[in-house]
Formats: sequence, structure tokens, C-alpha cells
Amino acid sequence: MSSNMQIPKTCQYCGKAYIARTTVTKYCTADCSKKAYKAHKRQEKVQSTIEQEIKGDKALQPTNSINPNSIALKDYLSVNEASKLIGVSRWTIQRMIKKGQLNAVPFGNKHIVKRSQIESLFI
Ligand SMILES: [Zn+2]
Repeated sequence: MSSNMQIPKTCQYCGKAYIARTTVTKYCTADCSKKAYKAHKRQEKVQSTIEQEIKGDKALQPTNSINPNSIALKDYLSVNEASKLIGVSRWTIQRMIKKGQLNAVPFGNKHIVKRSQIESLFI
């Protein structure tokens, strides 16, 4: 009886109607079964990549360039960071320091600008 079973089914991969010999068959051919398995694996991979990207978003950010978010959290900025914060060249910041328009404290050969100094320019 079992070897003579003929169950009309629809292939879950290609959608073709076929005659299955067992109740557990899902695909018309071994080929469809293989392809469906591969498609499923690929789907799993895509899904996990998406999840990783959502989770690891911060880890993927480049570390060698100045992260604008970290500048936003700093109270004391180098001339370079201050210029990035406002979106001007660092020469502009240095010129403003020279003219006394911007208070900066010399630290070695660097000038450090307090964040509130920059913010007070806009008040
Ligand atoms: Zn098929």
C-alpha cells in the first residue's frame, strides 16, 4: 500500500501540480527541494544580516574620522572639532580666536575652545 500511494499535491517551490508518493513530500522533484532549501537558507542569511546591521549599527561606524556625534557630547573642543561642529574651516576658527571673537585656551600648541563659547556666539 505505502509504495503505491498517489497523492495529488502542489509543489511548494515551483507551484506545479504533481503526484506525491509520500505524505511528507513538499516538492515535485529533488531539484525543487534543493532549490527551496537554498532559497530558505539565503532568506535566513539576509534576515540575520539585517538584524546584525540594526544591532551593530554603532560598531560599523568608522573610527578613524571624527564622529560628529561625539563632538556634540564634548564640552571642550579642539579648533578642528570646533570647526566641524559649526561647519566652517579651522582657519576661520583660528582667525576668530586671534581677533578675540572666540575665547580659546592654549594647551601646548593647541587651542581648546569651550563649547559654551561657541554656543554664546549664537545667542
Ligand atoms: Zn517543483
